[in-house]
Amino acid sequence: MAYIEPAPIKDKENPLESMMERFNLAAEKLGLSDEVYNVLKNPAKQVIVSLPITMDNGKIQVFEGIRVIHSNILGPAKGGIRFAPDVHLDEVRALAAWMTWKCAVVDIPFGGGKGGVKCNPREMSAGEIERLVRAYTLSMLDVFGPDKDIPAPDMGTGPREMAWLMDEYSKAHGMTVNAVVTGKPLVLGGSLGRTEATGRGVMVSTLAAMQKLKINPFQATCAVQGFGNVGSWASLLLEERGLKIVAISDISGAYFNAAGINIQEAIAYRDGNRGTLEGFTGADKLNDPMELLELDVDVLVPAAVEDVITIHNVDRIKAKLIVEGANGPTSAKADAIINEKGIMAVPDILANAGGVTVSYFEWVQNRLGYKWTAERVNRRSDRIMKDAFDNVYATAVKYEVPLRIAAYIVAIDKVAKTYTYRGGF
Ligand code: GLU
Repeated sequence: MAYIEPAPIKDKENPLESMMERFNLAAEKLGLSDEVYNVLKNPAKQVIVSLPITMDNGKIQVFEGIRVIHSNILGPAKGGIRFAPDVHLDEVRALAAWMTWKCAVVDIPFGGGKGGVKCNPREMSAGEIERLVRAYTLSMLDVFGPDKDIPAPDMGTGPREMAWLMDEYSKAHGMTVNAVVTGKPLVLGGSLGRTEATGRGVMVSTLAAMQKLKINPFQATCAVQGFGNVGSWASLLLEERGLKIVAISDISGAYFNAAGINIQEAIAYRDGNRGTLEGFTGADKLNDPMELLELDVDVLVPAAVEDVITIHNVDRIKAKLIVEGANGPTSAKADAIINEKGIMAVPDILANAGGVTVSYFEWVQNRLGYKWTAERVNRRSDRIMKDAFDNVYATAVKYEVPLRIAAYIVAIDKVAKTYTYRGGF
């Protein structure tokens, strides 16, 4: 087979470097000791496995599976599993560290972890995906555990995959262990409110930030990049709170309607159209999907992938407020320009922490053998998100830093204090 030179990836930054740049800034502001700095800059554990899977055509294909535990000093590691073609170790390491900071920002008793399998679930049958999830789970039997490391959905995985993971883990242990994973279907011990939790947290932090900026939601426009779980729920809930969602996008393209897109209609269309917005007529398709990021809107919610706001387009961003539904959508190099332009950015480790917060509630319910009402879940997660926003905002004022660095300061400070009390160097 001829070797095809991969196309150079122009705008791609290394997410690990982006994470470390912010970590370094916050560590310096905080006066973090060298000892704790050195502990936190490296993940506690990294596991890479080879997963041979029999594909539907009878051939065996080998996949690479990764799980990184960045820290478990605050409690069991927590974080999703990503199924995507471009999964790589540096990305998973960055995402695992972000989970440590995220859990600390919202003050829940978890450390940070993340998993990934390099594969393209869009091109795989349900049976192939199931075999892959089960093989990955078996390889990670010593890593996972309700008191050790608790996975959850991330890009390319959802409740269906979490059910297979829980089943495989349970069979290997000879008993049903539903607290080993969150984001499960309701009948398996999933929590009410988990599906919409990340989008709901994005909505709560957007409204809290708009209040600070004195933007009236009923007169505000918003563009949302990504129409998966996070983007579609954030769009729907923000629309319900009065914002006009003028643009949405997914892998089929970006769609714009100055009069506002009917989000319920867009979701119904996507659900009846094999999960994509392709052919959606409730808005006009933009020539270049990246234009969505540069629209003249009040609020921009990047809720898709990493590194979409970079030094290559940050100059053209017109939004007054960016709320990061995705993990790592802004590269560290773009931060300075965002700050110079006076744009408020609610960082990923705060803005999208609603998901892991309700994962925590799911785990608590599983351990208690009890089920909370949706009303209780939403009330408690809204309060946690609002308190976390206020805490980060107050920290930003105290240290005279942007919200992003303030969020890192809050998180690193908590983890560092825990180390100091626990000792053990
Ligand atoms: N994958 C989600 C995140 O990045 C959820 C993680 C979890 O619930 O453990 O926050």
